[in-house]
Amino acid sequence: MPGFERFGAAERESAGEVLESGVLMRYGFDGMRKGRWMAREMEHALATRMQTRHAHLVSSGTAALTVALASAGVGAGDEVIVPTFTFVASFEAVLSVGAIPVLCDVDDTLTLDPGAVKKAITAKTRVIMPVHMCGSMADLRTLKAIADAHDLLLLEDACQAIGGSYEGKPLGSYGHIGCFSFDYVKTITCGEGGGLITNSDEIYERAQAYSDHGHDHIGSDRGAEGHPHLGYNYRIGEVNAAIGLVQLGRLDEFLDVQKAHYTRLRAVLESLEGVQLRRVPEGGIENYSFLNFFMPNENKARYSAKALGEAGFDGAFYWYDNNWHYHRKWDHLKNLESLSPLSEALVHQFQANPKSFKASDHWMGRNLSVLVKLSWDEKELQSRCRILKEVVSAALD
Ligand SMILES: *Cc1c(COP(=O)(O)O)cnc(C)c1O
Repeated sequence: MPGFERFGAAERESAGEVLESGVLMRYGFDGMRKGRWMAREMEHALATRMQTRHAHLVSSGTAALTVALASAGVGAGDEVIVPTFTFVASFEAVLSVGAIPVLCDVDDTLTLDPGAVKKAITAKTRVIMPVHMCGSMADLRTLKAIADAHDLLLLEDACQAIGGSYEGKPLGSYGHIGCFSFDYVKTITCGEGGGLITNSDEIYERAQAYSDHGHDHIGSDRGAEGHPHLGYNYRIGEVNAAIGLVQLGRLDEFLDVQKAHYTRLRAVLESLEGVQLRRVPEGGIENYSFLNFFMPNENKARYSAKALGEAGFDGAFYWYDNNWHYHRKWDHLKNLESLSPLSEALVHQFQANPKSFKASDHWMGRNLSVLVKLSWDEKELQSRCRILKEVVSAALD
C-alpha cells in the first residue's frame, strides 16, 4: 500500500517549488506564488480522477471525515453507524462533532453487513459510514438503497481503498461524500493529508469554509472575507499538497504494481484447500492494497500470523488481536475515556448501544491480511510466495 516506498525525484522537485517560492499556505499570497496553487491543483486532479464535481483537501483523513460530518449538519444527538472493523479515526470523527458512534457488525466482505445496518437504524440515525477496509469495498448498492429508504447520508471512508471501484464508479464517489487519507502509510501520501469528494455543491461549499475557520473564500482580500457559519482549522499545507499532487499522478502506476503482486500471492492461496478468500461484492474492483483471507478457525489464523512473522514475512496482520483496528481492544471508546467531560445526553445514548459482536468475531477471528508492498522485486515475491505456501499449508494440516 505505501506510496512512501516510491517517494522520489518528482515528489522532491514539486515540494522544492513550494520551498523556492516560500508560500507554504494554500490561500492568499497570490503575487509571491508564481502561479502555483498546489492544493488547488491537487483538488482538481482528485475530482477528475474520482469523477466527482468537487474535491476538497484537508490536513488528514480523520479531518476529512470530521469536516464531511460537520458539512452534512451531523451533530449532537445524531447517530452514525460505523463498522466494528475500522481504524479508530472513524469513531473519533463522529465524537468530535458531538455525535454518537454506533458500532455495527461486518461480514465476509470485512465491511458493514447490510442486514446488521438495517437492525442498527433508529429514529436518531443520520449517517451510514461504510469503511472500505484493506482495499476492498462494502456492498454499496444495498447500503445506498437502505440509506435512501431511511433518508440517511452514505459517507464512504475510502482511506484504505483509493483507486478501487464499484459498478464502474471510483470508491468514494458512490455515496454522498467520500473520504481519503494521504497519511504516510496510505497508497498515495502527502506526508500528512486527507481529502473529501462529493457531487453536492452545498456540502462542498460548507466543507471548504468549515475547514478554514468559516472563510467564505469570496474576493481576493482574505482579511475581508465573510464567515457565514462557524468553522475550524483543518487546512492542508502547500508542501504536503505538492507531494500529494505528484503521488496522485502516479496512483495508477502504484495500482498496477499492487495488482501484479497481489495476483501472485492470491494464486498461492487459491491452490490451498481450506483457505477462503474475502468476498468482494459483485461489481467491485479492489485497489489491491491488502490480500485478505479466512482460515478454518481462530487458532490456525493466529498461529499463521505468528509463523509468517517468524519466517521473515512481515506485514501479515491478524486484526482480531489488534489495538487500533478492531472493537475488542477499544476499551477507551467503550468506557468513553475522554480527557474532557462529554455531554450527559451523549454518554447516556452511547451506553444504550450493543457491545457484543458475535458475527464480526466469527469472521475477524479467522481473518488474515497481507499488506501488499510496492517495493518487492521478483526475488522477494518468489520468497514470499514460498513462505506463504509453507506456513499456511502447515497450519491447515
Ligand atoms: C488512515 C485511516 C483514516 C485516517 O486517516 P489519517 O490521515 O491518518 O487521519 C481513517 N480511516 C481509515 C480506514 C484509515 O485507514
